[in-house]
Amino acid sequence: MTTHTTPPRLSEHVEQLLAPGGPLPIVAAGDPVLRGITEPYDGQLDDTLLERFVQALRTTMLDAPGVGLAAPQVGVPLSIAVVEDRARGPREVLEARGRTPLPFRVLINPTYEPEGDTLASFFEGCLSVPGWQAVVARHARVRLRGRDEHGREIDEEFTGWPARIVQHECDHLDGTLYLDVAQPRSLSTNEAVAERWSQPTPEVAARELGFELP
Ligand code: ZN
Repeated sequence: MTTHTTPPRLSEHVEQLLAPGGPLPIVAAGDPVLRGITEPYDGQLDDTLLERFVQALRTTMLDAPGVGLAAPQVGVPLSIAVVEDRARGPREVLEARGRTPLPFRVLINPTYEPEGDTLASFFEGCLSVPGWQAVVARHARVRLRGRDEHGREIDEEFTGWPARIVQHECDHLDGTLYLDVAQPRSLSTNEAVAERWSQPTPEVAARELGFELP
């Protein structure tokens, strides 16, 4: 038995989504597709369609702009995500966050597990929750397993900001939004983060907004 129940409909849906060309519409919080557990990718899209789909995800991510995008964020309930971070910004901020460039990657059926107990807390946002950011304590180091778009095995450690990005995207594939695991009292508009909380670390925000840092 195959695990996927409606492969023809899913590939037709993706074909229709890609037909106009250019960036795809991003699904916002409130749509149930962001809350479902995605189907593992198991050939539901043929090789050509998969390649076109991941390129469209990349175009959409870069256009937004963002540093990661998961298939449910364009309404496709498959376990596929893309990540890419060119890591631009003030040097002291990049250093404090361990924000090193993350080359473009496609993650198929990815899962992660923490390596060690260290947590890192920083503001993050999500293209499906536009306008807002909140502080999330995430594992500083994770081991990521899965496949790439060519079916090659991925088994790698990620640290710093790349570790945060892959955790955020893997969580999307399990129906979790970053707000589910954020410090609720840290919730800030993008404008508030730019005006008040642009320090390299969220310690001032924690003190003034009244939330805990691990
Ligand atoms: Zn997101």
